[in-house]
Amino acid sequence: MKTLRDIPQIDKFLSSHEFGGICNALLTKIAQEVIQELRDDLLCKNRESFDEFELICEVKKRYLASFESSLIPIINATGVILHTNMGRSLIAKELFLNVAKVVCNYSNLEYNLEKGCRGERYEHVSEHLKTLLGVEDVLVVNNNASAVFLILNTFAANKEVVVSRGELVEIGGSFRIPEVMRQSGAILKEVGATNKTKKIDYQNAIGENTAMLMKVHQSNFSIEGFSEATPYADIKKLSEEHGLIDYCDWGSGYIPTLPYNLGNKEPSLLTFLQDRPSLLSFSGDKLFGSVQAGIIVGKKELINKLKKNQLLRMLRVDKITLALLEETIKAYLQERYEQIPTLWLLMQDVASLHKRALHVRVQIGKNLCEVVESRTFMGGGTLPNRDFPTVALHVRGKAVVLEKKFRENHLIGRIENDKFLIDFRSILPELEPQIIQIAKGILG
Ligand SMILES: *Cc1c(COP(=O)(O)O)cnc(C)c1O
Repeated sequence: MKTLRDIPQIDKFLSSHEFGGICNALLTKIAQEVIQELRDDLLCKNRESFDEFELICEVKKRYLASFESSLIPIINATGVILHTNMGRSLIAKELFLNVAKVVCNYSNLEYNLEKGCRGERYEHVSEHLKTLLGVEDVLVVNNNASAVFLILNTFAANKEVVVSRGELVEIGGSFRIPEVMRQSGAILKEVGATNKTKKIDYQNAIGENTAMLMKVHQSNFSIEGFSEATPYADIKKLSEEHGLIDYCDWGSGYIPTLPYNLGNKEPSLLTFLQDRPSLLSFSGDKLFGSVQAGIIVGKKELINKLKKNQLLRMLRVDKITLALLEETIKAYLQERYEQIPTLWLLMQDVASLHKRALHVRVQIGKNLCEVVESRTFMGGGTLPNRDFPTVALHVRGKAVVLEKKFRENHLIGRIENDKFLIDFRSILPELEPQIIQIAKGILG
C-alpha cells in the first residue's frame, strides 16, 4: 500500500515506460498537478493510499484531453438564426472549400501579379462590392465596431458628432455608442428626445466644432407609438449645407427581399444607399450572412482618408476574412442565396420546415415528440420585435431535464411554455441524422 512518503519524484515518475519517452513541458505540468492533488488528498485524509498505475492513467487521460479542440461544432436548435453566442452567420461549405485553396497556399494578397510588385490587400473585394452596392468606394475592417471607431477617430477626434438621443444604443457585448465615441476621441452631442428627433434638432446642434452628423441604427430595440426619426435625406442635406460629413452606422443590412414582410419596417441596404450617405458601415456577419467584418462604403475621398489613418493597420483583416467575404459577395452577385446559409434558413417556408420536422419525428418515435408551430426571432441585434413563423419538435418530458441532456450532447434547444423544443428554423438539413441519433440516445 503506497502512502504519502511513497509519492514519486516527478522525474522518476515521468521516466516510466508508460509515457513512451514523452517528457514535454505540458506533460510535466499535468504530472505535477496530479501529484500535487494526490499529496493534498493524502494530507487531509481524503484518501489513504494510492496506486502508481492509476496515477499514470490519470496523467495520460488529462494529457490527451488537453489536445481536444476547444471550439467545437454545436447544433443550434434555438430557432435564432443569428445567434451571437454560437457564431452568428454560417459559411456554406462549398464557399469555404474555395477559400481553403487560398488560405493553405501563398496568395496574391498584397502582390500585384501583373506588375510584379506590392499590391493592395483591400482591392480583392472592392470591385465586386462596389458593383453589388453601387457605391463609389469600400473598405473592410475587422468588424463593424472597429468601422465605427475608425470613422469617428479619423473625422471627429476632438470634434463634435451629433447623434439623436433615440440612437445612443448598446449592442450586446459592451458596445455602447457614447463609450465608443469617447474612446475614439469624438465628442458626443446628443440631440432630440428618446422618441423624437427632428431636423431642426440637428440643425440647432451644429456649431463651430461640429464635424459630423451621425445616424445609428437602433438594432436590438425599437420604439413604437409616438415616435419620429429624421429622414436620412434630411440629415445628409443638412451636412452638405454646413460642410459636414454624414455617417450612418447601419448595424446590419440585408440585400434581397426578406420573407414574412420582415423588411417592411426598414429598407434594404440597396434602398437605403439610394440616399447616398457619405459614409455607411455595417457588419459582415449579421443579415449580410458572411464572415466577421466591418464593411465601410461611401465617398472615395473619405475612404482614402480612412486608409491613411494608422489605426487601420490595427483593424486590418486577414486573408481568411477577405477570401470568405469575396465568396459571399460573388454569391450575391449571382443571386445564389442558397449559398448564404443565414438567408437560406430565413427563407425556408413553413411547409418545408414542417416536412423536415415530421421526418425527424418519425425517426425518433412518434410517441416521444410532436411537431408544433411557433414563432421565432432573427437575433444578432437585428430586426427587433419582429417575430416570424417557425416549426419545432416538442420533445415530451420535463423541459429542464431534456434541455440539459441535449445540451450535454451539444444540441442547444429552447424551452417555451415548459416545453423543450428543437426548432428547425436554425437547423441545416444535413444535421438531421445527428439530431435523430442524439434524441434516440437520450430518449432510449
Ligand atoms: C451590431 C452593431 C454594431 C457592432 O457590429 P459588430 O460587427 O458586431 O462589431 C455596431 N453598431 C450597430 C448599430 C450594430 O447593430
